[in-house]
Amino acid sequence: MENIQITLPDGSVREVPTGTTAAQIASQIGPRLAKDALVARVDGELVDLSRPLDHDAKLSILTAKDPDAVQVLRHSAAHLLAAAVLELYPNVKLGVGPPIDTGFFYEFLRDEPFTPEDLEKIEARMRDLAAKDIPNERKLLPKPEAIDLYRKSQQEFKCELVEEKAVEPMVSFYTTGKFIDFCRGPHIPSTGRIKAFKLMNVAGAYWKGQEGNPQMQRIYAACFVDQKELDDYLHKLEEAKRRDHRRIGQELDLFSIQEDAGPGLIFWHPKGATIRKEMEDWLRAELIRHGYELVYTPHIMLRELWKTSGHANFYSQNMFGPIEVEKADYQLKPMNCPGHVLIYKSHLRSYRELPVRLGELGTVYRYERSGVLHGLLRVRGFTQDDAHIFCMPDQIEKEIRDCIEFAWETLRVFGFESYEVELSGGDPAHPEVYTGSPEDWKRAEDALANTLNGMNVSYKYIPGEAAFYGPKIDVKLVDAIGRAWQLTTVQFDFNLPRRFNLEYVGEDGSRHQPLMVHRALWGSVERFFGVLIEHYAGAFPAWLAPVQATVLPLSEKFSEYGQKVTRRLKETGFRVHYDDRNEKLQAKIRDAQLQKIPYMLVIGGKEAESGAVSVRHRSKGDLGPRPLEQFVADLRDEVDSRAIR
Ligand SMILES: [Zn+2]
Ligand SMILES: [Zn+2]
Repeated sequence: MENIQITLPDGSVREVPTGTTAAQIASQIGPRLAKDALVARVDGELVDLSRPLDHDAKLSILTAKDPDAVQVLRHSAAHLLAAAVLELYPNVKLGVGPPIDTGFFYEFLRDEPFTPEDLEKIEARMRDLAAKDIPNERKLLPKPEAIDLYRKSQQEFKCELVEEKAVEPMVSFYTTGKFIDFCRGPHIPSTGRIKAFKLMNVAGAYWKGQEGNPQMQRIYAACFVDQKELDDYLHKLEEAKRRDHRRIGQELDLFSIQEDAGPGLIFWHPKGATIRKEMEDWLRAELIRHGYELVYTPHIMLRELWKTSGHANFYSQNMFGPIEVEKADYQLKPMNCPGHVLIYKSHLRSYRELPVRLGELGTVYRYERSGVLHGLLRVRGFTQDDAHIFCMPDQIEKEIRDCIEFAWETLRVFGFESYEVELSGGDPAHPEVYTGSPEDWKRAEDALANTLNGMNVSYKYIPGEAAFYGPKIDVKLVDAIGRAWQLTTVQFDFNLPRRFNLEYVGEDGSRHQPLMVHRALWGSVERFFGVLIEHYAGAFPAWLAPVQATVLPLSEKFSEYGQKVTRRLKETGFRVHYDDRNEKLQAKIRDAQLQKIPYMLVIGGKEAESGAVSVRHRSKGDLGPRPLEQFVADLRDEVDSRAIR
């Protein structure tokens, strides 16, 4: 028997007899690796550990530390699910069962729906089968035999798959005990390694995703390497559910979406509107401080304008249809840019005026399909915190730096601690799909990269991800439970300055085209509000809270002092609620907690006598008595410093 040369990841070479398996090599390396190994990578391709090696190759032995190996584990777990289902319900027809990001699913055709009790039974059977540590074995069958096998067991979907997908004369199968599945593999050696999984839910899906085909039932499962990872994931899911902005928005009476008005359109109720006003006041003040000029532009403009800008062509599928008035077509605006361009163009600009920074909380309307609408996060009408910067080439790096610093400030003020940054560039292989010259693109991408490097911001460069009109920087905020939200964007535009023939008179007296940058910090007020609701789980910091304090008199006897306290706080500019309902104190506190009001001020005889309030905080509990004027000063500080508490 001839020997072959196997190169390991550390560069070392082992000479082994032809037919040696990756599992055998793992054992030679050490018992620990042999035990932890899930699958092998041979010359870049994932294969079973038991596959004999028949040529010189590069070999890596993968454990659960490798994400690809985890997907193989999940795929094997999907087979385990199908095996358990077939044992319990022998008449089901099998569909497909791939791994997914957080686990796997398998789909079945069955007349009766799977109930939660069924899922429990199936999960228990899976655990039995896993505990038996049944080997996953690869088998090859000639294609006609394979089809025959499935025909005899009346698995017509599988027949269909073999007929369509098997290209070679021999078809590969995997068996797990009695269970057999048409599958390319690879799989982990045996079922014993599948420990941390949970069947989550059943969802309907057409066979092959095509309407009109039979309705399959997909059983979805979460599956991780160990119980801790699974528990973390399940906990995060629970947290996300608890924080769902649609539920909290209703409980706190912040906003609604009304069937009578149509989908994807937001009604801001008084409490939500109060938060929005505070958010917008902060933003407008900061825009002015950062040298922006605030503008307003119409919601509807001639469609001709949208032809000039190009939107009527390349953006038409996201736009509401035209509206005819006096034989002219008008267009509800999907973006604010052309409006700002018209303001820039309203007079000839000199280089002395640049940079021009125009900011607007501009409401736009976009046609999103009803299927993708989602609470505040995906809507049809929304207000962008939009701005456009027109500047000269030598001003661009400073402008980008200011945008990024503005984004950091936003992050800090709203209490986000981490972020991810991406720089999306053009695809050098396809320069023809982009507007602007390759030199323009290079200069723009360099400006973005230089600025980030100069600020020591680490980022991911993604070639080919830019829009056709220019490269961009995206900032994703990471929320309280580790989810990343795409919000801030800083984007070059080589398209609009050209289409609208934008100019400025340079120092040399001749006319030049300015650079144009679109930028948004929140993305939209609606979306950012949704993110904030989930980030704070409804407990807005005092500066944003719709009600900052509630005054709770112990009984009617103290109503005079209670009203005095309420008046004093209102005069100072705080948002105060006076709760004089004829309820027990405990009930009033409970309600204030449910409404996530930051401060509860309990008023009784002692407080009335000494001019004090007993302070209770929604998360810190009882803080004891404090002179009223002291509380007023403390709350003033907390609100003015926009503290996150
Ligand atoms: Zn499979
Ligand atoms: Zn824009």
